[in-house]
Amino acid sequence: RVRVRIAPSPTGDPHVGTAYIGLFNYAFAKKNNGDFLLRIEDTDRTRFSADSEQQIFDAMHWLGLNYDEGPDVGGAKGPYRQSERFHIYKEYAEKLVEKGEAYYCFCTPERLSKLRERQIAMKQAPGYDRHCRNLTDEEVKQKLAEGVSYVIRLKMPYEGDTVVHDELRGDIVFENSKIDDQVLLKSDGFPTYHLANIVDDYLMEITHVIRAEEWIASTPKHIQLYKAFGWEEPKWYHMPLLRNADKSKISKRKNPVSLNYYVEEGYLKEGLLNFLALMGWSFGGDKEIFSLEEMIENFSFDRISLGGPVFDLVKLGWVNNQHMKLKDLKELTKLALPYFVKAGYYENEDLSDEEFTKLMRIVEIGRESAQTLKELPEKSVIYYEDDFELPNSEEAENKKERKSIEKLRSSMETEIGKKAIDLFVNKISMLNEKISEEEAIKILNELQEELGEGPAAVLMPIRAVLTGKARGADLYTVIGIIGKERTLGRVKKTKE
Ligand code: ATP
Ligand code: GLU
Repeated sequence: RVRVRIAPSPTGDPHVGTAYIGLFNYAFAKKNNGDFLLRIEDTDRTRFSADSEQQIFDAMHWLGLNYDEGPDVGGAKGPYRQSERFHIYKEYAEKLVEKGEAYYCFCTPERLSKLRERQIAMKQAPGYDRHCRNLTDEEVKQKLAEGVSYVIRLKMPYEGDTVVHDELRGDIVFENSKIDDQVLLKSDGFPTYHLANIVDDYLMEITHVIRAEEWIASTPKHIQLYKAFGWEEPKWYHMPLLRNADKSKISKRKNPVSLNYYVEEGYLKEGLLNFLALMGWSFGGDKEIFSLEEMIENFSFDRISLGGPVFDLVKLGWVNNQHMKLKDLKELTKLALPYFVKAGYYENEDLSDEEFTKLMRIVEIGRESAQTLKELPEKSVIYYEDDFELPNSEEAENKKERKSIEKLRSSMETEIGKKAIDLFVNKISMLNEKISEEEAIKILNELQEELGEGPAAVLMPIRAVLTGKARGADLYTVIGIIGKERTLGRVKKTKE
């Protein structure tokens, strides 16, 4: 049975790399009716942050990358938090010593740092000189009895190569002589990443390791560990790293890598997942927009490209916009509501049915161009701000804009413009508070017919008094959404 995992370390905000790797693990597991696990690798207590773990769970659940086994969901191979498994690692490290595959190393930090200095001075590659590898059993026993502090190191072969059979990349060959005798258990009794990771992958019966490219250099050490234990190694897949256009790896310093950022900006989980899927994988044909279910159905590692996908937020914006258009309008409106509250357009999320229906219409129009939920209120100012000023042509940024502002302002002053506004006010006054968009269209058409003029002469002045803008949403939707009283109020106020 296929069993895969992600093994994030809770050291800060949940990383978009975790979601990316999580997605490919998930898709592979689900495609093969396998299991997807989440294991928390919290052996490095100095970098541990308590709420980071919860944030990883939340982010994965938000994305819908639901794991079959994990710290918060349980499972038969738990516990799934390495800090709860410390006793296991010590036992396995000692097993390797007994088998003659690992050894106690009593070298002091002072000796190691002197060794390093000497190696640097002599332009040698830094590394442990295997000083303790040849201690006799007697010497070891005595030091242990004396309580001398120790680490346990793996005996790397002195010669030969370790070949990583990467399923995506082919064989990658490492010379054993260049690989250090890895520390497996530290002097405080904590395991290193290498030991804990391999012991857990074995005990949790992981069959395929799908992780980021940056772990390739660790893989020969992992393979030697499997050999030392006499266990069968899993299949290895190293996914390309997410990169900037200049090929540098995306990182905290340069990019928004926190998943919290994407939630706060109002990207949809569907959009983010689709975008991450496109990083290194293609659906086939020219299909770029797809759901997680479609990805799973169509998933295979054949269409991975290793070129180093460019993590391009412009592309993410486009992909997200496509998913906003595809989403059920009511669902999208519910997701968008908190952003409208935050923008100050509603006091809280308890809207009346009528308000919600209007918001649905606002969202329906806004999603034509908005790339995120957060952009929806930003693009909807026209429906909410009754207090606007007509723009000033002196503040125009360019000639074209100045012309359009002048046109807008002068349209209100022409004979036809004045008549149109008066007639509009009369007609609107005769309606009930709720005006349907159809009624608004009818009125706007009647104005043109009755005045015998086209939209430029008749509708531009109405647009000016109603919105203060030369362009933007259709007038009838504005009227339909804001209703009679606010329509009349706006006209009155701008005319003053
Ligand atoms: P940064 O470079 O931003 O400081 P990091 O590598 O220190 O990142 P980690 O918290 O170690 O961040 O990474 C979390 C997970 O995301 C790890 O599993 C890592 O392999 C993966 N990851 C980190 N950066 C990338 C990237 N550019 N592309 C793909 N995966 C990544
Ligand atoms: N703890 C490692 C990480 O932060 C796990 C790497 C692996 O998948 O082996 O990603």
